Amino acid sequence: MATILIVEDNPKNLKLVAFLLRQAGHDVLEAADAQCGIELARIHHPPLILMDIQLPGMDGLTAARTLKMDDSLSNSKIYALTALAMKGDEERIRAAGCDGYISKPIRYQEFLQAVASALSQAGGAPMAHQPE
Ligand code: MN
Repeated sequence: MATILIVEDNPKNLKLVAFLLRQAGHDVLEAADAQCGIELARIHHPPLILMDIQLPGMDGLTAARTLKMDDSLSNSKIYALTALAMKGDEERIRAAGCDGYISKPIRYQEFLQAVASALSQAGGAPMAHQPE
């Protein structure tokens, strides 16, 4: 169980991702744009940030670059949430400082596995779901 920040402007995707993460026992912070996401990241220092690429205003890659320059967030992993699957996109995502990416549309099983593996890289929370 960990705190995970989602930055996603599509309300349907945001709702789905937040639902899946909460079902898995995580605490979820939600932001619909990059500015709001950056503010929440600086307040809460979540071990994992899921960042949509196409956002209104500042795009997700610029936001990732900004967050990676912030020393107080050196323990936060940033994963791009992206529908992009073209050759070269992964390089762009990595170049912006993202630690990985998760493809949209979200497939439940794959998504939760990717989150678990990202969190284990972040050196944070135990993976086992703990019933309350
Ligand atoms: Mn978007």
